[in-house]
Amino acid sequence: MVTIADNLQAVEATIAAAVKDANRVRSMVQLLAVSKTFPAEAVLEAIAAGQHAFGENYLQEGVEKIAAVARAQPDTPVEWHFIGPIQSNKTRPIATSFSWVHTVDRLKIAQRLSEQRPPELGPLNICLQVNISGEATKSGATPDELPELAAKVAALPKLRLRGLMAIPEPQTDPALQRAAFARLRKLGEALRADGLIIDTLSMGMSDDMQSAILEGATIVRVGSAIFGTRTYHKDSE
Ligand SMILES: *Cc1c(COP(=O)(O)O)cnc(C)c1O
Repeated sequence: MVTIADNLQAVEATIAAAVKDANRVRSMVQLLAVSKTFPAEAVLEAIAAGQHAFGENYLQEGVEKIAAVARAQPDTPVEWHFIGPIQSNKTRPIATSFSWVHTVDRLKIAQRLSEQRPPELGPLNICLQVNISGEATKSGATPDELPELAAKVAALPKLRLRGLMAIPEPQTDPALQRAAFARLRKLGEALRADGLIIDTLSMGMSDDMQSAILEGATIVRVGSAIFGTRTYHKDSE
């Protein structure tokens, strides 16, 4: 039987090879294990194998899992990233339970997260989600909206703007994968040229992490390659 530990080892080998091809160093790329739809037991298995950062998409499920993992492993520091769509009336549990949010795409959401971030927790790390494929149905700020949104989010007191996130349209051709990730990288470079301090590109998933790393990803969000195929249940938001 293939275990989560085996899968993590295989993903690690993929990341290491891509980092080498990109002439980058391993410490520049963080592996975020996307545990959505999988139980706390799967997260505990990954923790036992040395993984400490996890991504969740569904608020209720994520908050319950964070509590269950904390009960089982009270002394283990675990970093939780919210990577799902955000409804503006549900920002408070995100601001209190997570240390990163990758999916901020409008100012109103950022303002609420800043107001609701408990002071004792320190700033909430933020990535702005960008719609780089231009599909009408996908969430994300447009590249045109980005400079103004980024400047305003960077000025909010309890947030720390870290960088950009994208979920490009799935492509099998590595050249097309890289072209989309390169667009996100260039948008990040443009924000830096405007004087913003950003250090994060959250891009790449199970099927395209190599291309993302070649284009400068600093966080790859990997789910099925670690935990297996997902089956969605009806209470997923
Ligand atoms: C589910 C999800 C992932 C992980 O996708 P895999 O293809 O399973 O690696 C990454 N990022 C986001 C935003 C997701 O929703």
